[in-house]
Amino acid sequence: MKILVSDDVSAKGVELLRRNGYHVDIKTNLDEKDLITCIGEYDGLITRSMTHVTAEVIEAAGKLKIIGRAGVGIDSIDLKAATARGIIVVNAPTSNTIAATEHTCAMILAVTRHIPQAHDSLMAGEWNREKFTGIQLKDKTVGIIGVGRIGSRIAKRMQAMEMKTIGYDPYIPEERGKQLGCELVDLDTLLREADYITLHTPLTKETRGMIGAEEIAKMKKGVRVINVSRGAVLDIHALAAALKSGHVAGAAVDVFPEEPLTADINPFKGMENVVITPHIGASTVEAQEGVSVDVAEGIMAGLRGEPVPTAVNMVPIAKNVYLTIQPYFDLMERIGIIGVYLAEGPMKEITVEYTGKLAETETGLLTTAVLKGALNPILQDSVNFVNAPDVAKQRHISVKEIRSADPGTFVDAVTVRIVTEKGEHSIVGTLFNRTEAKIVQIDGYRVDFTPENYLILAPHIDQPNMIGQISTILGEARINITGMQVGNMTQKGTNIMAIAVADDIPSNVMLKLKAIDGILDMKLIHCEPHQ
Ligand code: NAD
Repeated sequence: MKILVSDDVSAKGVELLRRNGYHVDIKTNLDEKDLITCIGEYDGLITRSMTHVTAEVIEAAGKLKIIGRAGVGIDSIDLKAATARGIIVVNAPTSNTIAATEHTCAMILAVTRHIPQAHDSLMAGEWNREKFTGIQLKDKTVGIIGVGRIGSRIAKRMQAMEMKTIGYDPYIPEERGKQLGCELVDLDTLLREADYITLHTPLTKETRGMIGAEEIAKMKKGVRVINVSRGAVLDIHALAAALKSGHVAGAAVDVFPEEPLTADINPFKGMENVVITPHIGASTVEAQEGVSVDVAEGIMAGLRGEPVPTAVNMVPIAKNVYLTIQPYFDLMERIGIIGVYLAEGPMKEITVEYTGKLAETETGLLTTAVLKGALNPILQDSVNFVNAPDVAKQRHISVKEIRSADPGTFVDAVTVRIVTEKGEHSIVGTLFNRTEAKIVQIDGYRVDFTPENYLILAPHIDQPNMIGQISTILGEARINITGMQVGNMTQKGTNIMAIAVADDIPSNVMLKLKAIDGILDMKLIHCEPHQ
């Protein structure tokens, strides 16, 4: 598989991809036209913020399955267009947390003690100590807007400076604030009380322009404002005006609504009470290596057809939930595949019933895995964890999840029922020892087989020599049988046989098998999950 890296990313991730057999091309500084011209040959794309992955680029990306953003912000990727095409978008949200936290601390100290200005003055041959008198941090209040990964770490670090920390974050519980020693208050209180205000929210509809002239006017006179989050959260023109008027005593800004910030659009030009840096919050060696390795791991998981915990256009999933359900993904997809092969006519309804421990966890992605399995064999376009629920909806397949408190016969089992116009089929699967995938029931027949890549399912009349005849035909065709199982509970004189074979079976051999007297139906199922 081929991956294009279109911005500078640390070599570590690229090496990881190459070690795992991926062909990686590094082509930086491509404009939209160049990208449109070459993107068609790639399965994966890795970018940072310089590459704009527009709807037009996505339209031209015939093979593209996954886009990895080596960093956090995904404003440079047309997420809607990617999702519509079933392209997974992953980022690396955690690897630059420490870098951004430490940069924020550096910015707070720099703006408090005029470090860049003092440095420049000394370099220019001056020795001016009065001009650079600062204030102390101890006993001041810092207001943290957005108390997530970075905001919470700022709280800890600023507490070490003996500052009082307060926070505004409507999406975290009060309890979390207490744990952090950071009292959660409403926005107006924070604006009114803080000596330092530091922004750490993502850029969303709600946070775009969240701190403008009106909010700045509510701040304490002499406040210092720091933004190392996203440029568009803060109105830099309003901030520049407040710095000029003296209402805001100092500001430190790393991110801008328009980047790069060129001299002609820089509202802080010539101002002494500002420290600005060119979006270097994440620029540490450790963070750059971390993001490139994280994004490479996400890309590989996505290309293997597995769900990716860092995908931004898939159902978000907590790490502990992921660890619980992860062993089941392959089984679920194989059950979906078996289901669609058994189903005759268009599927109308897919019900997934979870029992045991599975009934106690979030199972949305497992249900999606069943849909992925059931839809890929019948559709031209690739169906994956991103688009499977939408594709099912478009095809008017109603999808239901049931959680059953009754542990049933099998521990932690999954029952998938597929309803078509002609009737209903059901498959029950489970994992023995959380590793060994087993199908334990099909259409009411009790079975016990591993869903191998090539599988024959044959309902038949329960009579002697059925196994013998099938083995003979397969043996003559030199097809190796790797497993064979006959159901152990007959239904009205019928039974089901599941045969795992090492290879695909030619159609003439299938015809011979189907012609055996007593075979009621025979399905050759290519059970391997779609990548
Ligand atoms: P996070 O998702 O862990 O935390 C964000 C917090 O903001 C969450 O707790 C969320 O509840 C809160 N939030 C959301 N909407 C809010 C609102 N309307 N008001 C108040 N709080 C709100 O994210 P993070 O990893 O801490 O990153 C924070 C920001 O820093 C992001 O914008 C990210 O892009 C940016 N960042 C910048 C750099 C850089 O180079 N300057 C590097 C890394 C991260």
